[in-house]
Amino acid sequence: MAAEVRTTCPYCGVGCGVLAKVAADGSVSVRGDPDHPANAGKLCSKGSALGETLGLDGRLLSPEIGGRAAGWDEALDLVAKKFSDTIAAHGPDSVGFYVSGQLLTEDYYVANKLMKGFIGCGNIDTNSRLCMASSVAGHRRAFGEDIVPGTYEDFEEADLVVLVGSNTAWCHPVLYQRLLAARTKRGTRIAVVDPRRTATGEDCDLFLPIRPGTDVLLFNGLLAHLVRRGALDADYIAAHTNGFDAATTLAAADAPTVARVAEGCGLDPADVRRLYDWFAATPRTVTVYSQGVNQSAHGTDKVNAIINCHLATGRIGKPGMGPFSVTGQPNAMGGREVGGLANQLAAHMGFEDSAAIDRVGRFWNAPAVARKPGLKAVDLFEAAADGRVRALWIMGTNPAVSMPDAARVRAALKACDFVVVSDVVRTDTTRFADVLLPAAGWGEKDGTVTNSERRISRQRPFAPLPGDVRPDWWIITEVARRMGFAEAFDYATPAAIFREHAALSAFENDGARLFDIGGLADIDDDDYAGFQPMHWPLRAGRGARADRLAGDGKFPTPDGRARFVAVRQEGPALPVDGAFPIALTTGRIRDQWHTMTRTGLVPRLMAHAPEPAIEINPADAAAIGLREGDLARVESRYGSGRAKVRLTDAQRIGQAFLPMHWSGRFAANAAAGPLSTPVTDPFSGQPELKHVPVRIAREPVH
Ligand code: SF4
Repeated sequence: MAAEVRTTCPYCGVGCGVLAKVAADGSVSVRGDPDHPANAGKLCSKGSALGETLGLDGRLLSPEIGGRAAGWDEALDLVAKKFSDTIAAHGPDSVGFYVSGQLLTEDYYVANKLMKGFIGCGNIDTNSRLCMASSVAGHRRAFGEDIVPGTYEDFEEADLVVLVGSNTAWCHPVLYQRLLAARTKRGTRIAVVDPRRTATGEDCDLFLPIRPGTDVLLFNGLLAHLVRRGALDADYIAAHTNGFDAATTLAAADAPTVARVAEGCGLDPADVRRLYDWFAATPRTVTVYSQGVNQSAHGTDKVNAIINCHLATGRIGKPGMGPFSVTGQPNAMGGREVGGLANQLAAHMGFEDSAAIDRVGRFWNAPAVARKPGLKAVDLFEAAADGRVRALWIMGTNPAVSMPDAARVRAALKACDFVVVSDVVRTDTTRFADVLLPAAGWGEKDGTVTNSERRISRQRPFAPLPGDVRPDWWIITEVARRMGFAEAFDYATPAAIFREHAALSAFENDGARLFDIGGLADIDDDDYAGFQPMHWPLRAGRGARADRLAGDGKFPTPDGRARFVAVRQEGPALPVDGAFPIALTTGRIRDQWHTMTRTGLVPRLMAHAPEPAIEINPADAAAIGLREGDLARVESRYGSGRAKVRLTDAQRIGQAFLPMHWSGRFAANAAAGPLSTPVTDPFSGQPELKHVPVRIAREPVH
């Protein structure tokens, strides 16, 4: 009987531990790892179906050049030559990588090192840009570094949990189960702020169906209320923060009364007052935010409006307290650690600090380390469309349907001189590849991921690499060697990459940066193989290990203080109007993941929602002349699609919801990406996926 292999779920940022076992007939069974701190043996519907997603149907099994099968040497030589030639002819800014929160930290590390250290350009961005970039920007503005101060245990130790723009019940189900169990035990109050009454909103103590895009007003109102009530931690504010007066002055002007907030947010004043009174009176409060906050043209301001309230009450970094961003993907956090966003450098260092750039250059012994941020996702594809970026390598993601204004992205992929796609399966995007590289999938990959609470866990292989498939880190390093960087990319194993990543985090780090896993820089292969899940920081030479950050009131800013950020409520980038009168939000449904390349293969997951449906309030439907089950055409300024109509008063009048998952492989005409606006947040570059003006009409059936 084969032994169970201890690994980590590849779907969401909860990061549940999984025990996988391969039977004699090759089938794979999974169960939750009872010893993993994130899930203690539980799995959600998606995680428990992982064993049913591992067939070879649709797998890429050998490299392809121009649609014909090729050997690895030929394909890798071509990729290296095309990138080198493009850089020689047009400079380093003429190439780019678009990567994924599906990559393991070791994959991410070498991709970032190649682009920023050796090509000498910041043009590596990630699909995490669509997920949590506004949280990263908000954390950096407030804390000086992209830190999530709390842990999942804080959900269980809180007396009040405020979930903002987060359908935790469906999108982070095991974490939600932990919260419900805590509620049963200690009577935790749950408040949900969401324009849509989701499954999370159905089972809470207070539901606030906020008008889309007005979160800053709600939390500015809370800050002003805390000041009026004197519900502040004056000692904490004085000792550990800057900017209180400016933030509270603007908040008071923006949101002077509960009535004004209720009117602006479209809420019942009694509900607003109840939320404010609960927050003011409950020291153990955690505010959780997710894509509903991040995916906005003002997402960073929303994050800071929330953090301001926690700084004002000193509720941060202590048991049961704190602002908490939950990430969508399994390794969004690992990508943030290595610098896998175009505006980050490496190991939580940024481009605004020239000493940090020099430090990273010294550590990598890099010839031409990038000195400025690269192009963020939307701008990267725009540059490919207009010829500024001429060679693009897409790793493990499907931007042809998942990016906003996806028609423009597809045009960019067509226009780009040279497109490489490395992925596990064929997708809508692989059609545009000049070179296709078959990458290892879950169960074959070997490395680490970091979940939303900064806990590093191992993904371990339990199946052989099929066909000519290779791990991402190997593919990237082989291209790097062929581009002339053999010495810097001389890794034999993912463990060797991890050691270097850990060493960089501690290199010339005197404690000013909190991201520090230097204590793992000399981890040997056996300890890496047996690595147990653990939180960072794990500091070199200090042995210190902190589950929570900033509990001592010290932040990684130049003066060690956190920063209030004065923010003002702004409207959506593109308001609804007579031509496009409905505000569309997009999001996940319970049993699907991304563009369904895995979960779409499992009949029992498809059974939950077999086809895409647009959810709309009955009053809007009546005005348009739509009935339940009708086929509707949904049109924005950027594209159109068709979906079945589902009537529900869970939608506010004037808004609608479309799942983000369906793509060309499963329903050629119902993807949310092609409809969505490419307008982005000015600080984070995250697109406004939660407010797309659309019109909806009955689709004639021929
Ligand atoms: Fe996987 Fe997330 Fe479900 Fe856990 S909650 S099993 S990590 S999808």
